[in-house]
Amino acid sequence: MKQLVIATHNAGKLEEFRAFLAPLGFEVVSAAALSLPEPTETAPDFAGNARIKAVAAARASGLPALGDDSGLCVSALNGQPGVYSARYAADDYPGAFAKIIAAADAKDNWEAYFTCALCLAQPDGTTATYIGKAAGRIAPAPRGQGGFGYDPIFIPDGYEQSYAELGAEKDRISHRARAFEQIAAALADVQNLRP
Ligand code: IMP
Repeated sequence: MKQLVIATHNAGKLEEFRAFLAPLGFEVVSAAALSLPEPTETAPDFAGNARIKAVAAARASGLPALGDDSGLCVSALNGQPGVYSARYAADDYPGAFAKIIAAADAKDNWEAYFTCALCLAQPDGTTATYIGKAAGRIAPAPRGQGGFGYDPIFIPDGYEQSYAELGAEKDRISHRARAFEQIAAALADVQNLRP
């Protein structure tokens, strides 16, 4: 199996990456398992942060690496928290849900979308970046136990359930799945640099 470093320390995201990549013949190794340092996300956009993470992991490990940056963009908050999604929640997701629901309710604008940027980096520093989006709306109250992060308050277009209620269906329709559809062909060409 070809090895690919996943430049994340987020266990929820790692499991989704594993589910996407196993059928493509990739053994996934996390940056955390390799004790790679987490670079600071200094870029103002998703693509820039995905690139920072992927390039750092590929250089440090000597293996191809996949970096992602993702977040929830809420119309009632003028697109925030966006690239600041993790920092906005600061591990208090119930608190973040309440703030977002209150903002959507105040403007009666429930529109939102998730974005995922994926960057595939080679150890020599070359990169390719892909963006996936999933449009939807904020749920008036958190729903479901599955998934991670903002899943309980996001209802994707075409569904009545939140991401947290969709189980494996989320992996077929999510922002990350859409970015993966684009990257699958590029991954088929990745040459592993170690046996
Ligand atoms: P990142 O590690 O900087 O990309 O942080 C992205 C943050 O956005 C996560 O910590 C979550 O708060 C949120 N996020 C990204 N993707 C998802 C998802 O699929 N479901 C729920 N929250 C997500």
